[in-house]
Amino acid sequence: MDYYARPLAQLIGQLTKLPGIGKKTAQRLAFYIIEMDQAEVNNLANSISEVQENLTYCSKCHNLTQNDPCHICNDPKRNEQLVCVVESVKDIVAMEKTGEYNGLYHVLHGAISPIDGVGPDDIEIKDLLPRVREDEVEEIILATDPNVEGEATAAYISQLMKPLGIKVTRIAHGLPVGGDLEYADEVTLSKALEGRQEIE
Ligand SMILES: [Zn+2]
Repeated sequence: MDYYARPLAQLIGQLTKLPGIGKKTAQRLAFYIIEMDQAEVNNLANSISEVQENLTYCSKCHNLTQNDPCHICNDPKRNEQLVCVVESVKDIVAMEKTGEYNGLYHVLHGAISPIDGVGPDDIEIKDLLPRVREDEVEEIILATDPNVEGEATAAYISQLMKPLGIKVTRIAHGLPVGGDLEYADEVTLSKALEGRQEIE
């Protein structure tokens, strides 16, 4: 890094901290930024700082949003009695892209993973039960990732919901085992949703 002037070395250092950005990519991005005109650089810098300042979490579903509740929870055309439980905000995007889902969401922001020391209290589970009761939810669709953590989380929530006597379903059909929901293509995800099975 000593080869570079300090501001450039700093920028490369910051970019390297981002996921998926190695040293070479960081250097390429930094040199690209140097060539950008001032207005573009300002837009980029503002977007980065505004994304944190102007975003909050929906108090109902934990989606990332500019307004609370989020646009999905606020949409009167959506079925409030149907709640799809996902691990991350990116999974909402994947589900929305299918165009097949008309219910609401609940974002856990993680999955239960005893090996990593992540228990039910470490993710957004606790307000799911009161929410299901208050909104008279009829079906919970467990759309956690098809891997060990996702299955453990789905099993935990299904046990939690059992006493309420509501329908609990799991999407899995056709999704690659060990995979990540956000990377599933729209057709596969639509089929997985359509073919969801009730957990007894
Ligand atoms: Zn919401």
